[in-house]
Amino acid sequence: MRDNSVLRKLLGLCVSTVVVVGRELRDGGDGGRSNLVVWVRRRVGVRGRCGRCGGVAPWFDNGGGERRWRHIDMGMATCELIAEAPRVSCPEHGVTVAEVAFARHDSAFSRAFEDLVVFDAIVSNKLAAARRHGISWRAVDHMCIRVATEALGRIDLLEGLVAIAVDEVKYKKGHKYLTVVCDHLTGRVIWAAKGRNKETVRAFFDALGEERAAQLQFVTCDGAEWIRTVITERAQQAIVCLDTFHLIGWAAAALDEVRRELVPLLPTHLPSPAALHEAFLWSEIRTVTKTATISLHGNTFEVDAALVGSRVEVVFDPFDLESVEIRFQGRSMGQGIPVTIGRHSHPQARPEAAPAPAPTGIDYLGLLADRREAELAELSGSINYAQLTLPDAEMQVGAAHDNTPTDTDNTDNTDNTDNKEIQL
Ligand SMILES: [Zn+2]
Repeated sequence: MRDNSVLRKLLGLCVSTVVVVGRELRDGGDGGRSNLVVWVRRRVGVRGRCGRCGGVAPWFDNGGGERRWRHIDMGMATCELIAEAPRVSCPEHGVTVAEVAFARHDSAFSRAFEDLVVFDAIVSNKLAAARRHGISWRAVDHMCIRVATEALGRIDLLEGLVAIAVDEVKYKKGHKYLTVVCDHLTGRVIWAAKGRNKETVRAFFDALGEERAAQLQFVTCDGAEWIRTVITERAQQAIVCLDTFHLIGWAAAALDEVRRELVPLLPTHLPSPAALHEAFLWSEIRTVTKTATISLHGNTFEVDAALVGSRVEVVFDPFDLESVEIRFQGRSMGQGIPVTIGRHSHPQARPEAAPAPAPTGIDYLGLLADRREAELAELSGSINYAQLTLPDAEMQVGAAHDNTPTDTDNTDNTDNTDNKEIQL
């Protein structure tokens, strides 16, 4: 195998499109890394293609001469590919640089080098990848964009959508928002664009197309009108699911509104314990005697001497007649000083009556009456009243009860229980 073929294989260049025509290892000098420079050209017979769309296009000119692409390092040395960059005339894109098999359009790096750097940026970050490969952060950023654009061109994220979520996310400072669409089945972002209005959501449905929009079954979103309106327009069959965060917020706001309406109708304050006690006090009018006393249901109290002859109001707790308050013309004149205490509670003060016992449903009086009726009926059935009027009634009654009082002297004997019953 020739040296150039070995080198081509080591560089990972495609044999059917690229030929290595030369190489040179340049010394980095003074501790710097060596640089392997490799000249390549397109294989004869391979037709020129548009660098933008990849379509076959006729040759236009040789362009600006040689171009360089940074390639994956070769051991300790950096590597550079050099090739002519002719231009083609694309029917669609006009005059443009022809496609090279080992690099993406409008890039100073080979495809393999870009893939490696982007992988490092994904597993670490762009700055670390830039330092690792000795390039700028901006170069890494542009690589990520090119790789992502190429990848998105190979797959269709909007294919087979059934359940999606639409929401907005804030970015940078100020009111800058992105409208983001996610696929619930994969949990991935499938579409995003600047802005948060109906036009932004319509742009998504434009990209989705009517046919695929008709396949949507569920769309979750917040309560934003600009999202729901467009969903109703473009995906009428989809069920709109509102998130619980906003639902709970709306319910709380509605409760607040009701509470604000009811607050003016509520009593401003509850009565204090002192006011409640005052409401349950009794009062009576008395005239203060010449000795500056008043009497209340047998109790005597001494009051202010200035009140002699005045009609005062005596305020007291009906269950505690040992302390009374004296009021004159609506003003309190202090407590009356007890002189004689005969009663401790007002004669009309009655503790709250115990509740009446629940009726048992048994008519005890009726039961007694029935029993008494039965006894009388039994007794009357055993007495022959017709024979009570006969001259020898005593004998008949005695015979009826199988007694043998043959002695007529016993007729006045009051021990005869039957006669007693009849007298009743
Ligand atoms: Zn083109």
